Amino acid sequence: MGEKRMMKGRMKLLLCVIAVLSLMVIPAFAASGEMTDSALTVGVPVDRCPVFYINSDTNEITGIGVDLMRLAANDAGYNVTFKPIEEKNLKDALDNPSYDVIMPLGSSVSSTRGEPVIVSDNIMQTPFTLVTAGSRTLPALNDLHVGMLSSLAAGAETVNRLYPGMEISLYETMPDCVKALRTGEVDALLHNSYVWSYVLQKPAYSDLAVQPAAMFSMDFCAGTLDTPEGREIISRLNDGIKALSDTQRQAVILDHTSRKLYQYDFSDYLHKYGLVACVVILLIITLVVVTQQRVRAIRKWHEEKMRQMLDYDPLTGVYSMNGFRKRAELLLHTHPDTPYFLSYNNIRDFKFINDSLGREAGDELLRFWMSRSLENLSEDDEAIGRIDADHFAVLRHITGEEQMRNDEKNVLGPVQDFFINQGKNYRVQICSGIYVLTPTDFRNIDVDHMIDLARVAEKRVRDSRTSSFGFYNPEQWDRGKRIAEIINYLPAAIKAGDIQVWYQPQVNYETKRIIGSEALCRWDHTKLGWLYPFDFIGTLEEAGLIFDLDCFVWERVCQDLHRWNEQGKRRSVSVNVSRDDIREDRDIPAHFQNLIQAYNLTADQLHIEITETAYVENPGFLISTTEKLRSLGFQVEMDDFGSGYSSLHMLKEVPVDRIKLDLHFLTSSGDFEKSRVIVRNITRMINELGMNMIAEGVETVAQADFLQNIGCNEMQGYYFYKPMPVLEFEKLNEEI
Ligand code: C2E
Ligand code: MG
Ligand code: MG
Repeated sequence: MGEKRMMKGRMKLLLCVIAVLSLMVIPAFAASGEMTDSALTVGVPVDRCPVFYINSDTNEITGIGVDLMRLAANDAGYNVTFKPIEEKNLKDALDNPSYDVIMPLGSSVSSTRGEPVIVSDNIMQTPFTLVTAGSRTLPALNDLHVGMLSSLAAGAETVNRLYPGMEISLYETMPDCVKALRTGEVDALLHNSYVWSYVLQKPAYSDLAVQPAAMFSMDFCAGTLDTPEGREIISRLNDGIKALSDTQRQAVILDHTSRKLYQYDFSDYLHKYGLVACVVILLIITLVVVTQQRVRAIRKWHEEKMRQMLDYDPLTGVYSMNGFRKRAELLLHTHPDTPYFLSYNNIRDFKFINDSLGREAGDELLRFWMSRSLENLSEDDEAIGRIDADHFAVLRHITGEEQMRNDEKNVLGPVQDFFINQGKNYRVQICSGIYVLTPTDFRNIDVDHMIDLARVAEKRVRDSRTSSFGFYNPEQWDRGKRIAEIINYLPAAIKAGDIQVWYQPQVNYETKRIIGSEALCRWDHTKLGWLYPFDFIGTLEEAGLIFDLDCFVWERVCQDLHRWNEQGKRRSVSVNVSRDDIREDRDIPAHFQNLIQAYNLTADQLHIEITETAYVENPGFLISTTEKLRSLGFQVEMDDFGSGYSSLHMLKEVPVDRIKLDLHFLTSSGDFEKSRVIVRNITRMINELGMNMIAEGVETVAQADFLQNIGCNEMQGYYFYKPMPVLEFEKLNEEI
């Protein structure tokens, strides 16, 4: 009984042990059942199509390596997930614990941190091929310098182990690799053949050639750090890899290599179809440009048509009021120095012509009048326009007396006889009012106002019934004619020798000797007779023509000086320089320098007179010009000192050699005694400042004596000599 109880007790203990053991073992079995389906994260590079790449449809990582690994891992009981490697290369990725294994490794390398690595059995044999720029014969593999992607650093290590003599350079990207190849930095590029089959589809790489002879293969393994867990994973994976058959491998490889994976990007299209694209783009651009031009031309044509409609009178073809205004404004802007008149012309009793001879006859008359007028006008600087009905305005250049007579003969006469010549007994009468433009009209151009003034004159003519034309401002007409006769005649006068250079001797009163002379111009005008500078210098200055005259005078003086030099009679002459000659765009010193060189003169033979007022107007530039002239050896004289509003202060500022005191201005008006005081003091001052001085306009012995008394011996004036023609001047010099 006791034994039975003992047996019962032992049984209970055994059951307890079994229960405890089963409690311990069952979960262990359960755990081992979970291991069969454990997760495995495989890090892979995704830029190695078709070995590893992202499927653009599913956005999942796929490729030969992925499919083979998935087969092996599943076989080994792993639920495998692929994760793109973010690291620069596989060796770096090995140190990242978020991947369980890394692919692909050719052999067991060490991680970047130097940790030993364990690799799986070979999943497949990967062919590696060399690619060169164009086909060429390569040296032995051990003597090669090859380029590889730096993401293949682990592979490079394997290659290096296989071919220790091979030099390997790593590049970040495939374009960098290709660039190094093309520039000859490396002999060839090395990469997985499957990847090449993808990469070389890029049109820009069509010059790269595969070197089939230089092919070798590398293992394609998965690897991880050599730790107990790592060894466990690898060992399980190896079981799966062992189970992979060659048929499976080939099927996977064929599946991915036969797919059309390469997709053209923009640069590929550009490379492949660049020429065609350029031609197409060029064609499009040409088409756009041509169309634009055509549109612009049509718009211009329309604008021109519109302008014509607005600016021209359809009946006569001359300007309309609008067109005339515009044209007149333009002409006055561009010809500010030309004397102009504006006439307003009207046919007397035009209504009667229309009523009795017919509207058509009236139109004919207007057309005839305009065609005659147009023939008589210069298209360049004159204009005619129809203001309204039978009223026409003409802007005309004043050329002189002849003008009116010519207009009468060529236009007015035939228009007056228009109907008579047709056998009708009617004489046309034209009334013209003329407004002569004043300088203000050029500054403040108001064509309508000018037409109004001409219309006032026309009204007077129409009312008086005594003449056919009248002036709004007759005194301006005389002035305008005169200006025109001076301006228009100048070029011909210079050519014809109508402009002469006269000389007025300058003397030393003490020694009674001629010490020099001043060149003064005279104009023997074809129409106006002898003209003195006063008559035309100002006009030429206003018209911007004084430089033409002065150049002529200076050259003539140099010719005379040269002739006298040749005759052994060296003289010096003072020439006048207008304030308008000295401008920033004209190098006056160089002009004189060229002249004396051309005529073989010395600079001291030319004295250059610049009027005092010029210095007041533009002191800075005048002073620098004076300094330049003096540095070239010319004598510079300040002309007409005392005539302007100059300050004595200028004597200090302006670096001239001689002051020409204009006695005439000082003595012609006011208190003679006071003038004497002024002249005496100015003379003293000039002497004390160390400048030379000459008095001009000396007319009496009293003036000459007075000047001598106060210390001024150099004189020029009618008391001694008047300006005289060159022959007379030469004779005078011979006599004394
Ligand atoms: P200017 O340079 O002061 O010339 C002196 C003027 O005074 C000359 O008048 C001369 O004939 C006149 N004259 C000389 N002695 C006497 C006198 O005792 N009494 C009076 N009442 N007058 C006298 P002209 O020749 O009529 O020249 C007048 C101005 O015209 C000159 O004054 C000068 O400024 C300018 N001129 C003359 N020829 C030219 C030239 O070729 N070019 C330039 N730009 N201006 C010139
Ligand atoms: Mg002078
Ligand atoms: Mg003078």
